[in-house]
Amino acid sequence: MIVVLKQNPDAQQLSTLIDWLKEKHIEVHTSTGELHTILGLVGDTAAIDADLISALDIVEDVKRVQEPYKNANRKFHPENTVVTVGDTQIGGGTLTLMAGPCSVESEEQIVAIAKSVKASGATLLRGGAFKPRTSPYSFQGMGAEGLELLKIARQETGLPIVTEIMDTAQLPLFKDVDVIQVGARNMQNFDLLKQLGRQEKPVMIKRGLSATYEEWLMSAEYVMAGGNHNVILCERGVRTFESYTRNMLDLGAVPVLRKLTHLPVIIDPSHAAGKAWLVPQLSVAAVAAGCDGLIIEVHNDPEHAACDGPQSIRPETFAEVAKKLHGLHNYLSENA
Ligand code: PEP
Ligand code: MN
Repeated sequence: MIVVLKQNPDAQQLSTLIDWLKEKHIEVHTSTGELHTILGLVGDTAAIDADLISALDIVEDVKRVQEPYKNANRKFHPENTVVTVGDTQIGGGTLTLMAGPCSVESEEQIVAIAKSVKASGATLLRGGAFKPRTSPYSFQGMGAEGLELLKIARQETGLPIVTEIMDTAQLPLFKDVDVIQVGARNMQNFDLLKQLGRQEKPVMIKRGLSATYEEWLMSAEYVMAGGNHNVILCERGVRTFESYTRNMLDLGAVPVLRKLTHLPVIIDPSHAAGKAWLVPQLSVAAVAAGCDGLIIEVHNDPEHAACDGPQSIRPETFAEVAKKLHGLHNYLSENA
């Protein structure tokens, strides 16, 4: 349920209303907009009499919200959420470029790639330390050592790091990570999502292999329900009948999510395409669709990459793409 307040509501009446709702075990999320303040009510709102609230002097309107996601719902929070990571802001009109290898392989590799993507305008460094691989015989990532190498690369470049967590037991190792990534395969690992909700680091949730928008938003809701509202959504392609590409990039997700939620939307063209040559064009299309940023796999020696070499672009290509993306983003912002 949402309660739209009249402009400049009487403070005493407002606090009486909030106290009354809390007594009824309803959580109240306040969103202060330019014109109106909105109260998002979460809990068993079926027991709340909407007519009673509507009749109050300070209330403009009361609406029941049908969607099962509340905190993530734009109706609860009309303004775009901006997630602050170090000096950079994700969402709210900026263009975030996360770039780096699929997996961390050595200090030399991660530092060299970090330096080159930083020089080309990347705002975050990606790199997997714990890798969810289809085969147990494939490289599983460097684990805790990989996280240490990412921190060295951050120190060398100043780029915040985004890296994937696979299990709740790994959480203590992620204390010093800037953005915690939940991979597609873990989108519905509800225990993991709950624990990520109880800590403050921003969480980027990738769309599950065949997840609907609602299922994906419910995963965001798990994190937000725990109190962590620093959530970012990442579309990385979904499973379809087509096998030419690794997945099918759903760019329709950008306008749909814009309508349904206030959370920032990042596009991963690399895992969607599965082919490096497709990444530049898909990236341009993603910016044209209005995303808040991209996460792109970049490797300095894709032929010998331990993971996802065929879809990794080279640092030189990233430099060209980043330039185009910034140009397009600036054009679209100026001509909005
Ligand atoms: C990755 O980012 O390297 C990754 C494993 O992505 P996804 O979870 O989208 O498959
Ligand atoms: Mn990968």
